[in-house]
Amino acid sequence: MARRSKIYEGKAKILYEGPEAGTIIQYFKDDATAFNAEKKEVIEGKGVLNNRLSEFFMSGLNNIGVPTHFIKRINMREQLVRSCEIIPLEIVVRNFAAGSISDRLGIEEGTQLPRPIIEYYYKDDSLGDPIVSEEHIAAFNWASAQDMDDILGLALRVNDFLSGVLFSVGIKLVDFKIEIGRLFEGDFQRLVVADEISPDSCRLWDIKSGTKLDKDVFRRDLGSLTDAYTEVAYRLGLLQKSTSQMKPTLVK
Ligand code: UDP
Repeated sequence: MARRSKIYEGKAKILYEGPEAGTIIQYFKDDATAFNAEKKEVIEGKGVLNNRLSEFFMSGLNNIGVPTHFIKRINMREQLVRSCEIIPLEIVVRNFAAGSISDRLGIEEGTQLPRPIIEYYYKDDSLGDPIVSEEHIAAFNWASAQDMDDILGLALRVNDFLSGVLFSVGIKLVDFKIEIGRLFEGDFQRLVVADEISPDSCRLWDIKSGTKLDKDVFRRDLGSLTDAYTEVAYRLGLLQKSTSQMKPTLVK
């Protein structure tokens, strides 16, 4: 088999050149990192779960008319996506206080916010992804005013979709991070949701018990990360619950 050319290797994914121009293959690794990669571990099965979960959320968004880079899942660990130019921002949407906003503003974790709060972080690992304002984004030309309008619209639609889907399976969407890509179609460009949407990039709490079902399980050493992600996939109907101690089986 011909060797594929690797475009980029990140903390949780590898990108390969896709089979056709304008496409990329995203490979989901089992590596988990936190605190700007100071904490690292290989967690067997995480990549498979995130590939399936991201497929579920991205194809759901495509189906309701929110554009994403996602084309199709290829196998257990890989998906085909459209190649786009990633805007160097992490867009965080928060419904309830947790993590850095709780630390920064002294708001108790779990406090409902008066409205969804959108924050922007500049994507630069060497700087630890610092929070930035729209002033910085405009001044340094990371995105135009029109882009920012579009990004806000996309972020709020993703928030409503994810909140609703997760609520229907007893999960509270506390916050999440998305990345946005520019897709060029002839002379036009449009913005699409890119990267991944998975429990690595969301805070998901069981509505009744408050149990964490996301990457905080790893960040804060709260138990098995695969059990948490498997529970999310199971509730969304992506896995069959096994009656034995066997590993869960993916549903096509
Ligand atoms: N997040 C992410 N990647 C990052 C930083 C944050 O996916 O590099 C997600 C994180 O999982 C959470 C949300 O963005 O769902 C808000 O994260 P926060 O600012 O509270 O930072 P953290 O507490 O994770 O450092």
